[in-house]
Amino acid sequence: MSESVDGTDDATVLGYARANQRERAWNVRRAVVFVLLVAAIGGGGYFVKRARDLAALRLESCRRQLQGIVQAAHIYAQDSDEFPPNFDWLLHHTLGGGDLISAFKCPATNVAIGNLNACYLYIPGQRPNSDPRNVLAYEKRGHHGGDAANVVFVDAHAATIYGYDNVMKLVKETEVRLKTAATQPAGGGR
Ligand SMILES: [Zn+2]
Repeated sequence: MSESVDGTDDATVLGYARANQRERAWNVRRAVVFVLLVAAIGGGGYFVKRARDLAALRLESCRRQLQGIVQAAHIYAQDSDEFPPNFDWLLHHTLGGGDLISAFKCPATNVAIGNLNACYLYIPGQRPNSDPRNVLAYEKRGHHGGDAANVVFVDAHAATIYGYDNVMKLVKETEVRLKTAATQPAGGGR
């Protein structure tokens, strides 16, 4: 009898204990979910910031790369007085080919290394004393966020231009100046 009474009591106590346990488990689960959520949001912020830093870094190293290419064109021009006719010529006559081929790939893209004109474009027919406002090399559209693209001018100064239309404007102005210079009597340049 007492056993059965005790048993019932035990069962009740056990029932309470289980209910308590369930509630505690539920609270623990809620706490865990909360912590995970905070971590996810915080972590998300962290990764967004990391991604932004990385994008800025790529834009910067792209600019330096393109500027390096133009500086190499200047080195080439020290002997021949004019810039090389194209990237391929530059790579093989000044940079010695090989390893430096990777400098022609924008770090923000996934294009295969090998096609020298996959990322960057070159405006040939210029000399170191051409109009310093002229663009010598620039990158194609869509490599970087904010519609940004890097441009390097004839005098080897580089700029990150926001809004690709502004890049095209600089390129068109360069082409117009080159055409005008070509139709003028020899001695051209500035
Ligand atoms: Zn780039």
